[in-house]
Amino acid sequence: MSTPFLATVLTLYPEMFPGHLGHSLAGKAMERQDWALETVQIRDFATDKHRTVDDTPAGGGAGMVLKPDVLARAIDSVADDTRPRLLMSPRGKPLSQERVRQLAEGKGVVIVCGRFEGVDQRVIEARQLEEVSIGDYILSGGEPAALTLLDAVVRILPGVMGNALSGTHESFETGLLEHPHYTRPQDFEGRTIPAVLTSGNHAAIEKWRHEQALALTKERRPDLLEKSPQPVTK
Ligand code: SAH
Repeated sequence: MSTPFLATVLTLYPEMFPGHLGHSLAGKAMERQDWALETVQIRDFATDKHRTVDDTPAGGGAGMVLKPDVLARAIDSVADDTRPRLLMSPRGKPLSQERVRQLAEGKGVVIVCGRFEGVDQRVIEARQLEEVSIGDYILSGGEPAALTLLDAVVRILPGVMGNALSGTHESFETGLLEHPHYTRPQDFEGRTIPAVLTSGNHAAIEKWRHEQALALTKERRPDLLEKSPQPVTK
């Protein structure tokens, strides 16, 4: 078997991992060694007797900043390899399904989780960390952001998702939000399943789903249509 996808997470809270990724599809994939996760405790690279990892911001202001020297040593402890090095950060490029797919096609990823007010700018530059955001809101630390990113990546690794095809129509994969889903019972509180879905006419079902996806995207996320004005028609 080829080497499994390896995620190395640098954090002050290694006990937060693998978290939910130890369960369900990702957990089973980890047991099968389709992917592996290792954590590095940043605090192990502090050198003073109090094992200090943060200090007050230069120029003043609230909060604390992760020290560049400690974080750099932690990063340098990770075997030198060609995996992308990410820093979870609200200032980063918003995570997209496209970036998730690229990461899933690679050998793995090294992820730095920030805490406090963030990390010293110089270590971001010196270790060429790619800043990645999971959305326009502020978390208290990078750990849930790292778990979110890894969830998105791991579920599309080869062999992880039970039904390989179930990923292909999904929101963002086609440039559109996904069509609505229905399942039995046929009548739920007086609401019935759209007749076309039980017609057995596969071409009509595909057409209906595409129209629904397009209408939903126009209504909720017109920005997606601007990005790819000519969504793929089946
Ligand atoms: N003062 C910073 C926020 C620090 S939040 C600012 O205003 O930009 C503390 C840490 O949580 C960050 O270093 C980062 O690692 C993580 N974090 C918070 N929000 C995030 C988001 N939306 N995406 C990714 N990481 C985030």
